[in-house]
Amino acid sequence: MTINVAVIGAGPSGFYTVDALLKHETDVRVDIIERLPTPFGLIRGGVAPDHQTTKKVARVYEKTALSDGVGYFGNVEVGRDVTIAELQDIYDAIVLAVGAPRDRKLGIPGENKTGVFGSADFVGWYNGHPDFTDLKPKLNTETVVVIGQGNVAVDVARVLVKTPEEMTETDIADHAADAIDASPITDIHMIGRRGPIEAKFTNVELREMGKLADCQPVINAAQLPDEVTGDWSDRDKRLKDRNLATMKEFLDISPEDKSKRVHFSFYAKPVEILGGDAVEGIRMENTKVEAGRSVGTGEFFEIECGLVIPAIGYFSDPFPGVPFDADNGIVIHDEGRVGDGIYAVGWIKRGPTGVIGTNKPDGDIAATQIFEDITGGAKPGREALEALLEERSVPRLSFQDWLRIDEAEVAAAKPGAPRRKFVTIDTMIGALN
Ligand SMILES: Cc1cc2nc3c(=O)[nH]c(=O)nc-3n(C[C@H](O)[C@H](O)[C@H](O)COP(=O)(O)OP(=O)(O)OC[C@H]3O[C@@H](n4cnc5c(N)ncnc54)[C@H](O)[C@@H]3O)c2cc1C
Repeated sequence: MTINVAVIGAGPSGFYTVDALLKHETDVRVDIIERLPTPFGLIRGGVAPDHQTTKKVARVYEKTALSDGVGYFGNVEVGRDVTIAELQDIYDAIVLAVGAPRDRKLGIPGENKTGVFGSADFVGWYNGHPDFTDLKPKLNTETVVVIGQGNVAVDVARVLVKTPEEMTETDIADHAADAIDASPITDIHMIGRRGPIEAKFTNVELREMGKLADCQPVINAAQLPDEVTGDWSDRDKRLKDRNLATMKEFLDISPEDKSKRVHFSFYAKPVEILGGDAVEGIRMENTKVEAGRSVGTGEFFEIECGLVIPAIGYFSDPFPGVPFDADNGIVIHDEGRVGDGIYAVGWIKRGPTGVIGTNKPDGDIAATQIFEDITGGAKPGREALEALLEERSVPRLSFQDWLRIDEAEVAAAKPGAPRRKFVTIDTMIGALN
């Protein structure tokens, strides 16, 4: 008997799971259920709009979605339109691939002031994710503080300082491009608790900061060590050597006539966001690294700024109907097995780490487990979900519908740009009429 599997979430981990399931010789039908009218998760809504080469991986996912045996339910949210318990009656196995969409909080006073936007929200806003279209951050400030020194922090800083010409060949949302172009931002401080060696950005992203048309990277030479020391694997040591060499090259870049700066500030942690209702500045404490950990020195300083963007990581909300580890923001699982025919892959399983490809092994593991645990399908599958959604009048989109939305976005692109994104659910669905 055919095994019917539902994969919840059309991001990388969902697609890698579908792919792995299809490769098996067992007869299987897989349905992808995605809450948005658009697929591809953080490839569309997270990866920076000027990193189009990275986004091209979605073409491979498209082939997967159009394969025999694969069904697609776009604009259907599990927990809202259908419950996990209902899906358990319909499918032999359910794979949670729903990601980790929320920002980690700084946990300091003042973080709820107007002008503090977590990177998940801010990145979603400039990428045209419909959940964040109405964020409307006020960018009427010369100085922005980005907390964190990973690739997401670098993405945010870069998107804020690139010129309109540099953003021509991107799919940044119109509302974000207009707001950034009109903003008086000149200085971005990217703050890390630890030092240049411990910073998490990768070398490709770091080097880009030295090649911007109207912005230069600024680093305090005194914060750069002569060489990488510490207990690193050979691979990590090589990466850190490269980063240190790039940062030393930054010291030689002359100010020329660039009007913007990204300041890489190490050894500092935020202690309070200052201001009335709105952000007016941030109070920081200097730190030092002891045994790999950052420790406050008791010396403080302030930066005047109108926008603070914490980019310190992501977590998942509890998913209705499955056991949840609230401390770590992931589902409770045993190597991916959640129990009762439910499996987890990607960021909801591992937490928010790694690149797109890091999610692939999760898909392979889930497929292996499903075929180990379930030897013959006993549930009705696709037609039963179609009937349930029909009964509830849920406007479900097919993958062909998405391809039509895609076509309309591409047709509306400005010269040089890959697409012009629809940024609300209504306009996405409206494009089908
Ligand atoms: C800002 C940012 C930039 C990044 N840039 C890069 C990069 O340049 N290169 C790189 O390799 N990696 C990058 N990554 C990492 C990469 O995006 C992740 O590794 C990957 O997207 C995680 O895949 P996922 O499938 O677990 O989650 P996601 O990509 O988040 O996909 C989850 C999907 O589930 C859907 N969903 C959620 N809840 C429900 C529900 N209840 N019902 C139905 N559907 C639901 C969501 O809408 C989404 O489509 C970046 C990450 C971030 C945050």
